[in-house]
Order: sequence, then structure tokens, then C-alpha cells
Amino acid sequence: MNEKYISVFSQFEQVKGFFSLKSGAADGFPYDRADVFEEAGLADALPVWPKQVHQDHIEAVMEKPQYPLELADTDGLIANVKGVLLTTVHADCLPVYFFDPTKEAIGLVHAGWRGTVKGIAPKAVKKMCTEFGCHGEDIFAYIGPGISKCCFETGAEVCRAFQESWPFIDEMAEQAPSRPPNQVPGNPPGEKYYIDLKAVNERQLIDAGIKPEHIEISPHCTCCEPELFCSYRREGGTYRRMGAGLCLI
Ligand SMILES: [Zn+2]
Repeated sequence: MNEKYISVFSQFEQVKGFFSLKSGAADGFPYDRADVFEEAGLADALPVWPKQVHQDHIEAVMEKPQYPLELADTDGLIANVKGVLLTTVHADCLPVYFFDPTKEAIGLVHAGWRGTVKGIAPKAVKKMCTEFGCHGEDIFAYIGPGISKCCFETGAEVCRAFQESWPFIDEMAEQAPSRPPNQVPGNPPGEKYYIDLKAVNERQLIDAGIKPEHIEISPHCTCCEPELFCSYRREGGTYRRMGAGLCLI
């Protein structure tokens, strides 16, 4: 771990990936910390900035743009050209990174609970296969730091949103212990759940054809590690965003 970012896919020479820590976070949008890009050796790469909307649109970048590229209504990016820095911004939502060393293709998605319900991570795998001829078994994935099960408490409606498409959610959601009614007015005891979004994404990726041994999951929780990360939930909303980046070199 560097002072400003966590390295991603450091076992591969053809790709550089990072997830910025609090010290490398940026105010507002888009994520444009030149110092972080420079330290990661990506100062000359051309960034692609998706304007994230918690949906599942994924854009394919198949040639190097002349200028930094901003894409509306986009939460996922895939690319097969060198020198294009895919970026996403995060303050609890998970970044999911992809790399296929055989086809030399990459992908990066912003997967909060809404994006995860829509299956944005397996959709990126599918798109890498259709656009770039990748095969699931060749793809490596890294599920980055984000809000973990310890802190992701939700109402039953979030579980229900998952249940329609992902029946295995029951294995990854745990009912929160009942609270005295006077402690949280309006919350009936037993109506809250802790959901393991990282496990849901992992399972979705395995079902999409990625080998379990090709999936790495960050143990970091952005919500309960305030010394390292910004957190929308912990801070009650924040403009600070940590950046994820991935680039073929
Ligand atoms: Zn936590």
C-alpha cells in the first residue's frame, strides 16, 4: 500500500490499477488527482470520466481519445487500447476491476447496491467477451474497498430488490438484531439486514464464468476504517471521492 493509493493487479506487467486512499481523494467530480496519476506512473494516460448514475450502462473504449473523455450516464467502462485510463469515483460503492491478460483488455465498474442489483459487474464480463473476444476463464477480477457487511445495514426492501434476480442473496444477507423500539423510532425490530455486497459481486462473477481463484476481494471496509477512507455513510454524505483507475500500459 502506497501513501495515496492501493495498487491493483500488481502481479501483472501489462496493466496498472489503483484505488486512492483518503489522502489521495478528490473534492467533487470528476476524479482528477494529477499527483495520484503521476505517482502511479499514469501521468501521460488519457483519462475517461464516466458520470455515474447508479445504473448499469457500460461504455467500450476502443481507440485512444485525443482529450480526456467524459461520458454521461455511465457506470462501467471497458477498453482494449493502451494508454487509456479508465476511472470511477467512490465513497462506499464498490469498484470492480477486470483484466484479461490473453486479449489484453480491461474493465472497471462502479457497483453500489443499485448497480449490483442490476448486475453491472457480470455485464462488464459479458461485454468484454462480445466486444473483445475475451473468455470468462481468462479474466481476472478485483473487488475493491467499499462498504462491507459489517456496516451495510439496509431495509428489507433492498433484500427484496436483490431477490428477484439473485435468489442467493439469502445466503449473503443477515437479519440485524432487534433494537429497543425507543432507540430507532419507526424501525420495527428485525426489519434491518446486513448485506455482503462483495460476496454478491463475487458470486455474480463466478456465475458469469470467472474462475473463483481469479477473483481477489479487498478486505477493507470504507465505512469503518476512517483513517484510510472517505465514507458517504459514515460522514453522513460527503463530496470527497476516492478514485479507482485502471490502464493498459
Ligand atoms: Zn465496516
